[in-house]
Formats: sequence, C-alpha cells, structure tokens
Amino acid sequence: MQSSPSDMADCMTSRVWFGRTWNRCSKSDLSRSALITSYITPKQKGAVRSTKVFMVIHVSASKQRRNNPTVAFGGLIFSAMATSLVGCESSPDFEGSDRNAELEIELSSRGDTQVAVTFTNDSDRELGLLGRYVPGKGNSLPMFEITRDGLPVAYEGPIVRFRAPDEEDYVWLGAGESMTAVGSIEDYDLTASGFYTIRYAVAPTQLLFDHEPTMETVTSQELTLELAGRGSQPRVRPRAICSSTRLNTFAQALDDGVDYANNAIGYLDQFAGPRYVRWFGTWNSSRAVQTVEGFEEVWADLFYQTVTPDCDTTSTSCTVDDAYAWVYASDSSTVYLCESFWALPRLGEYSRADTMIHEVSHFDNTANTSDWAYGQAACETLAQSDPVRAVTNADSFAFFAVNALGEF
Ligand SMILES: [Zn+2]
Repeated sequence: MQSSPSDMADCMTSRVWFGRTWNRCSKSDLSRSALITSYITPKQKGAVRSTKVFMVIHVSASKQRRNNPTVAFGGLIFSAMATSLVGCESSPDFEGSDRNAELEIELSSRGDTQVAVTFTNDSDRELGLLGRYVPGKGNSLPMFEITRDGLPVAYEGPIVRFRAPDEEDYVWLGAGESMTAVGSIEDYDLTASGFYTIRYAVAPTQLLFDHEPTMETVTSQELTLELAGRGSQPRVRPRAICSSTRLNTFAQALDDGVDYANNAIGYLDQFAGPRYVRWFGTWNSSRAVQTVEGFEEVWADLFYQTVTPDCDTTSTSCTVDDAYAWVYASDSSTVYLCESFWALPRLGEYSRADTMIHEVSHFDNTANTSDWAYGQAACETLAQSDPVRAVTNADSFAFFAVNALGEF
C-alpha cells in the first residue's frame, strides 16, 4: 500500500501525542496510516478538544475498603491490602461487598513434576474459586510462579480464551472447608537441572468470585524441588488443516481485526477519554504508550496475516469452559481455534474478530499480554483496581478494540 505525504504527516503528528520521539514512521505505520484516516471521522476528531475533561477521575473515600486485612497463615499468605478504589462513572458499586477473602493455599510435592495445591477457606463464608484456575481439571494455564536457581522460569503451555465465567464455573468452598487439587508444572521450561522454587500465584481477578479489588496476588508458600533437567523438548504439534469455509471465515476475522485495531490505535493516539479509563484504568502516559504500541504489533500480525489458523477443535485446551481459542505465546505463527470460536458472531464483544485481537495480543513479539481477567465485568474491575495488569490483559485489549465506535 502506498503512503501519501499527507498520510506520512498524519503518522508523524499522531506520534507526538504522548511525547514520543519518533523520527520516522515504521513500515506498519505507513501502511496503516491511510486506513486510520478513513476511520477517524470528523466527529471523532472533534472530540479531541474535550478529552481532557474526562481525565478527571474521582477517588471516592466512601468506596475504600472498610478493613485492611493482611492475613497471614504461617508461610501462607493471602494479602489483601487496602486499595483506594479509583472510580469512574461506570464503575460497579462495591459498597455491598464486605468480603475479606481469607484463603489459605498450601503447595506440596506429589513427586516429579506433580504438585498438590490445597485451598482452605479460613473465612466465615462460602468462597468461590474459578475452576479453570484450580489445577487438574485437564486444563493448563499459567498459575504458578517458578524460578530455577533464582532465575524466572517461563511458562510455555497454552494460553486460552474463555467466555466470561458464571457461577457454575466456580468451585465453592464452605467456611472452614479444604480442597486439594493435583496439577503439573510440565508446561514450564524444565529443560535445565536445578533447584526449582514454585508457588501458586494468580491475580484475585483470576481466581476469586466477587473478589475485592486489589492489586495483590493470591499465592501459596514457596515449594522448592530439585529436578533433573528434561533437555530441550520443543512443543511441536502437527498442523490441523482447516476447511475452505473455515479458512474464509478466518480471513474475515483477520480483516475485521485489522479494522478494530486501526480504530483502537486511532483512539489511543488522540484520546485519553472514558473508553481508555473503562478498559485500562487511570490514564498514564507510559501505560498509554504501552497499549498503543501493543495494538500496533497486533495490527501488523493481522494485517500481514503472519498468523495462521489451526482447526483441531479436540485439543485438551478446547475442552474447558467452552474455550474459544488458544495460542502458545512463543509461536506467533499459529492460533488454535476451538469449536466455540466458529459459533461466535463476526463482530462485537465475544466475536471472532475480538478473539483474534485477544489471541494475537498474547504473543511474545506483540503485546505479550496475560489473562488476568476474563469477561467485561472482571476487566472493568481490573482497570479500576489494577491498571498495570489491565494494560497487559488480553480481554481488556479485545474489549477496548470493539468498544462501540462513538464512545469517547
Ligand atoms: Zn487469553
């Protein structure tokens, strides 16, 4: 695609918005800029002048947590620090919640690479734990933090997009009850021999039903195991070919994803309005740059079609909670599409298009997002309580991208 001088100027000027010092437009900018100009309507451009108004975010003292529990159980910690709730007009009301989750998590070895995670409800009420983050349900998700001889160990397994969880997806623990689940750490890089220190560690938005907004991590104590290295074991899967019908549907999803990514970049380059705050939390220039650069990488993968589909709908990762799709973060060539993906609508929230945004954002060489929260409600909570995680959350990227045109 040719880029006209005016496209170039548009690209250059847009990059000044966050004070970035770009001397030239990237290759992707040159191709994209022409598309962006067709996406930003005069009405949208006019909104630039009023965006600063929306930067005023109120902090409601009345919405601060009533308590400040840091509950430690020996070496087992669930720390829920008091966090000022940064609200916006659409923020959910947490006034009705006085839940101070008290969850004890204990990790123990079951031999080799098997670990047992025991959840104990030390509160006086029922606690809901999202089943997909309870080990051993056939799923593999990054739910452990592991180091080897002090160095971080990478998770190399599937990263999956699910629908928003509902109550039936939670495992319910009554007051005082315990539950032990056994899982594996084989999806982590265990190639080298050494002392591996492991802890169960997830965000509250990942595990807990109706959780308190907090930036903390729900963790177990540390468990150290001496493991013999497994050598290099590339995670190669035979490619499952798609039907021509599905290939066409996939191509449409890529095209639609390009349009959404264009719109997202156009907004992020020029606005700091409520759409940003809704999905990414308090506006902050470095985080805003992080989001726009992430979208630029997502856009490039979709536009240049460097990502291709795998149509094996029977993989284990497709069997949990009607998963839509999954990827390996380290392999940006492939997105694995589950049966539920093909039943999604073409556009909007939970569509084939926003699933492509979600999946492509996971790759190490794009936005390198995680799945800190699934579903719109949880993502809005995450934006308010933990904007640092929100700008690295795949569903937040997806929902920001498809957020109704015209909402600024
Ligand atoms: Zn995901």
